[in-house]
Amino acid sequence: LPQIFIDALPVLKQLEISGYEAYFVGGSVRDLMLHRHIHDIDIATSAYPEEVKETFDKTIDTGIKHGTVTVLYNGQSYEITTFRTESEYQDFRRPDHVTFVQSLEEDLKRRDFTINALAMNTKGEIIDLFNGLTDLDNKLVKAVGNPEKRFHEDALRMMRAVRFVSQLKFSLEQHTEAAILQHHKLLSKISIERVREEFVKLGLGPNSREAFQMFMDTKLSEEVPYMEGKQHLLEVYPKLQFSPSEETSLWSIIIILLKLQNDQISKFMRAWKNSNAMSDEVEKIVNFFDLLSETSPSDYQLFEVGKTTLLNTIDVAHILGQPIDSKVLVDRYMALPIKHNDELAIDGNFLIKLGITPGPHLGKILEDIKKQVIAGLLENDIDEIKSYIKKVM
Ligand code: ATP
Ligand code: MG
Repeated sequence: LPQIFIDALPVLKQLEISGYEAYFVGGSVRDLMLHRHIHDIDIATSAYPEEVKETFDKTIDTGIKHGTVTVLYNGQSYEITTFRTESEYQDFRRPDHVTFVQSLEEDLKRRDFTINALAMNTKGEIIDLFNGLTDLDNKLVKAVGNPEKRFHEDALRMMRAVRFVSQLKFSLEQHTEAAILQHHKLLSKISIERVREEFVKLGLGPNSREAFQMFMDTKLSEEVPYMEGKQHLLEVYPKLQFSPSEETSLWSIIIILLKLQNDQISKFMRAWKNSNAMSDEVEKIVNFFDLLSETSPSDYQLFEVGKTTLLNTIDVAHILGQPIDSKVLVDRYMALPIKHNDELAIDGNFLIKLGITPGPHLGKILEDIKKQVIAGLLENDIDEIKSYIKKVM
């Protein structure tokens, strides 16, 4: 058993000693069976949140309403959730109210896919009530119970299905896939934040090209911002050289495939509720990519774009299969006399001391000096710059 489970075992045992049932559940059990890296552990218990809090010294009320308490134990934190069902659904979204129950079976029944409905007890025995182990063997994402009913309860599950196809290199079970195609329109009821989270995991998964094809085939792509009616542009995605591994690359590639104009980039990013920082970087990448596909950048343009954006743009070009000489670009960047504004041997104050009045005129002189230095026409040296200024003034 991986260390992360061994470390958590005393937490489960403590619950058992106190008279409750406790199991490892969800993604960690699935990933254990798949020999995948386990990033966190979820615990399900028959104890009510108040009872969990009484059992441990240090707890945090993470989501009491939904039955989740975080337990701090041995420097680790564990999310412990009371067995529950989600009986009342509103508008195809997750319910506000949950009902706590006493049986593990009820709790596993409400989970999305059979591979996510596995549990493991303190003896390391797997509880598999929905043939999740068989589906793991067959690499299938299959809804627990009736897929149509499950997607009506929570339409986000359709995105999650395709996300697991990407992350796990699985296929969709036939009825599950048919139900997504049939009910894809329900995805429009889900908040864009939740859709984005799954979309990014889809895009960054190792099988993202196949998953993206499925995302289009099931028509889920018709229900997300800017992609409706754009399958003819997006069909390039499954033919990419490889899957993006950075979120900035993912968004840049989608924007490039959609042929969005400059003024639409930030609107697209906002529609997907991306942060301003993410949006700014993606805009820089897409613009520099456009420049690269037309011409070779000047040294000043390389300076302006900066190392991070340069490398991000090279990544995007590689994924898109655009032939660019990335080594030459990086070598040229590395050879720039200065790489940041503060590396310039002089600044505005220096010019003021030379008698130049502060204002736009001073700004222009400073900019000109910077350009001369970057172009290699002027040495980045105080005395050299001083005599240059005397010459041009
Ligand atoms: P990851 O490795 O990305 O964390 P995960 O399977 O653990 O994958 P989570 O979103 O962390 O996914 O959810 C934990 C578990 O909760 C899932 O394995 C599943 O059993 C259940 N679950 C999560 N979201 C839903 C949902 N929308 N409907 C039903 N069950 C869900
Ligand atoms: Mg998880």
